[in-house]
Amino acid sequence: MPYAITQSCCSDASCVSVCPVNCIHPTPQERAFGSTEMLYVDPNTCISCGACSDACPADAIHPIETLTGPLQQYAAINAAYFEDIPPATDPAPNFHLWDQPEPPRPLPSARIPLRVAIVGTGPAGTYAAEDLLLHTDAEVTLIDRLSSPGGLLRYGVAPDHLATRKVADRFTRFHDHPRTRTVLGVEIGRDLTHEDLLRHHNAVIYAVGSANDRALGIPGEDLSGSIPARRFVGWYNGHPELTADAVALPPGRVVIAGTGNVALDVARILTSDPSTLRNTEIAPRALSALETHENREVVLFARRGPAEAAYSLSELLELQHLAGVDLVVDDHDPRTRADVEVAVGNAKAAALRDVAFEAIDWEAEPKPGRRIVLRFYTSAVELTGDDRVQSVRTADGLELDTELFIRSVGYRGTAIPGLPFDDAAGVVPNESGRVSPGTYVVGWIKRGPSGGIGTNRTCAKQTIDALLADAAAGVLPKPPGSRRKFLRLAAQHTR
Ligand code: SF4
Repeated sequence: MPYAITQSCCSDASCVSVCPVNCIHPTPQERAFGSTEMLYVDPNTCISCGACSDACPADAIHPIETLTGPLQQYAAINAAYFEDIPPATDPAPNFHLWDQPEPPRPLPSARIPLRVAIVGTGPAGTYAAEDLLLHTDAEVTLIDRLSSPGGLLRYGVAPDHLATRKVADRFTRFHDHPRTRTVLGVEIGRDLTHEDLLRHHNAVIYAVGSANDRALGIPGEDLSGSIPARRFVGWYNGHPELTADAVALPPGRVVIAGTGNVALDVARILTSDPSTLRNTEIAPRALSALETHENREVVLFARRGPAEAAYSLSELLELQHLAGVDLVVDDHDPRTRADVEVAVGNAKAAALRDVAFEAIDWEAEPKPGRRIVLRFYTSAVELTGDDRVQSVRTADGLELDTELFIRSVGYRGTAIPGLPFDDAAGVVPNESGRVSPGTYVVGWIKRGPSGGIGTNRTCAKQTIDALLADAAAGVLPKPPGSRRKFLRLAAQHTR
C-alpha cells in the first residue's frame, strides 16, 4: 500500500532525497518546486519502503491504509497531482543532488573557521545555520530579539497544528550545535548595531522575516477592536510581547478581512470546541478566553472569487471537517457559484462544491451554534464605532455588526538599520541573498512574505552559496573582534 503526504507537509523536501524510486514530486530540481501547496507521492511508483515517513520533520507522510477521517482525502490528492504528468521514462532510482552528503565547501583559510552571525532564529535563519553547520566548518552565532528561539515556527504556526510545530525538533539540534552560540533578547538596531556584528563576524545574515502588517487603508481601521491577524496569532501562541488583554473576544460575531491560511487558522481557533484545544500548544490565556466565548460566528471576506482564494486546499478541508462548526458560503454574488461550478484544475474552488451555499439574511438573528461564513467578492470599505469598532461596511453595501475586526491581508518587511531597503516591495534589495560581500538576507526579508516553512530551505541554500562564493573569492570582511568578545558585548545588552 503506497504512502501519501498529508496536510502538515512543510515542503522542505527532506523526504525527496531518501526516496529510492524518485516518486515524490516536485523535487527541488523541478520548476514547480516552491509553487505547489505541498509535495506529493506518486502511488503508482511508491514501493512502500517508508523511508520518506522516517525523514519527514512534520510527521506528514503515512501509508494510505492508515489514513483516517479527513486525512483519507489525501490519497486522491496525492494521486491527482500525477494525472497530467507523463510517466517517468527512466524508472531507475534517482540520486538527487539535494541533501546528498556534500564534502565541506572550500573556505579561504582552512585554519580559521568562518564566523557567521545569523539574525533571526525562525525557519529561514535555522535552515541557513543548518547548511553552514552541516556543509562547512563555520561557527554560527544565532541572535534573536525574543527570549526564546523559533520565530514564526513558535509564534506563527497554529497551536493545533502539532505536526507542523514538530519541525521545531529538527531545528533544536542546530540551535544547540557545538559550533553554535545563541544570543537571545538582543535586537539589532536597538541594542547592538550592524557594525557591531561585522566587527566580530566575517558575515552577517538577516533572517528577520516581515515584521509589519499590511493595512487596508480604510476609515476606522485604527479603532480599538480592529487588529492585525499577527496580534491574534501571537496572543493564542503566547508571544512574550503580548499581554493577556491584547485581544478582547466579543460575545458575537468576528469579521476577518482575508482568506489566506493565517485567516483560516484564526477562524478555526475561534470556532473550535475549546475542549479540543486543551491538548494543543495554545497559550493558557487564550484557551480560558475561548472557553467563555459563546455564540461564535466568524465571517471571512475575500476580495476576489474562489478560484483566487489565498488559502491552501488542506486548510479549507480542515474547516470542512471541523467538529460542531458549519462552514457556509454566502450566496450573495452569482459569480461565486459560477466560479465553483466551472472550476477545472482548481482544487480549491472545486472543493467548495461540498460546502453549503446559503443566501444569508444578515438582518436575522444568527442561528445558534458555531459557523464560519466565506463571503467572496467582498471588500471592507469602512469601520464605524465611537471609540471601538461596532460595524463594518462593505463595498457592496452590507453593514455587519462586529466588535472584533481582524485584518489578515499579508505582511510587510521593515527596514534594517544600516542596510538598504526597498520600501515599495518591503524587502532588502539583494542578489541571490547577497546585499554586499559580508551582508546577506534570507527568508521573507529577502524574497517577500510568501512560501511556507520548507520554502526557506532552498532559499537558505541560495544565500549560503552566495556567502561561500564570496568567502572563496576572498572578499569577506576580516573582523578585528572575536566571537568571545561579541558574546561579552551581547551579554551587556541582553534584555
Ligand atoms: Fe518513496 Fe518509499 Fe516514501 Fe514510497 S514510501 S514515497 S518509495 S520513500
